[in-house]
Amino acid sequence: MTQTLTIALSKGRILDDTLPLLKLAGIEPTEDLEKSRKLIFPTTDPTVRLLIVRATDVPTYVEQGAADLGVAGKDVLMEYGSQGLYEPLDLKIAICKLMTAGPLNTPEPGGRLKVATKFVNVARRYYAEQGRQVELIKLYGSMELAPLVGLADKIIDVVDTGNTLRANGLEPQELIADISSRLVVNKASMKMKHARIKTLIDALAAAVEQRSAA
Ligand code: AMP
Repeated sequence: MTQTLTIALSKGRILDDTLPLLKLAGIEPTEDLEKSRKLIFPTTDPTVRLLIVRATDVPTYVEQGAADLGVAGKDVLMEYGSQGLYEPLDLKIAICKLMTAGPLNTPEPGGRLKVATKFVNVARRYYAEQGRQVELIKLYGSMELAPLVGLADKIIDVVDTGNTLRANGLEPQELIADISSRLVVNKASMKMKHARIKTLIDALAAAVEQRSAA
């Protein structure tokens, strides 16, 4: 019996960097994903299909078994709490850092720090480990704005070049975690489709090696 595989991906950085790895593993979408509004795509391997979902939804699709595999940033996995998923491979793509950031050359205010972020679970754990009392403000985007308008003292966000922070008078401060995208696998799929998924993991691992050697 042929076992099908469904892989959940998100558009943008992760898709751009994952497609070349999938191609090296012999899987290519049969149409241009960026140009289409469709959300399910067949590939050159008739047993493999791709789902396009929001980056923060990838762990949900995979944990619930709507997708067998997915690619998600470590930041998203840390926020989601990934104990319901296997995370067998670091794809070494979409590399960045999860950091605190605040206004340039500004001492921390006394009293309780106000921190704006979309990563509230990560932030709660990070400050709890340090024994620091903070007020967390959940935002969904444009975090850099929060300190500029007095909504928060600091933000926690992913930083690549730091240009977005600097353009808004902010500087990266404490490193919380080094981030890259990970392959995640549904736990039941890993058992039921073990040989199939193991072959794909090995092919992707070889593709990651090949890319980092290039
Ligand atoms: P930067 O190069 O630091 O100016 O980053 C540009 C924007 O992209 C910032 O808003 C970051 O939050 C975001 N960003 C950078 N790297 C990543 C990544 N690997 N995954 C998701 N968002 C990112």
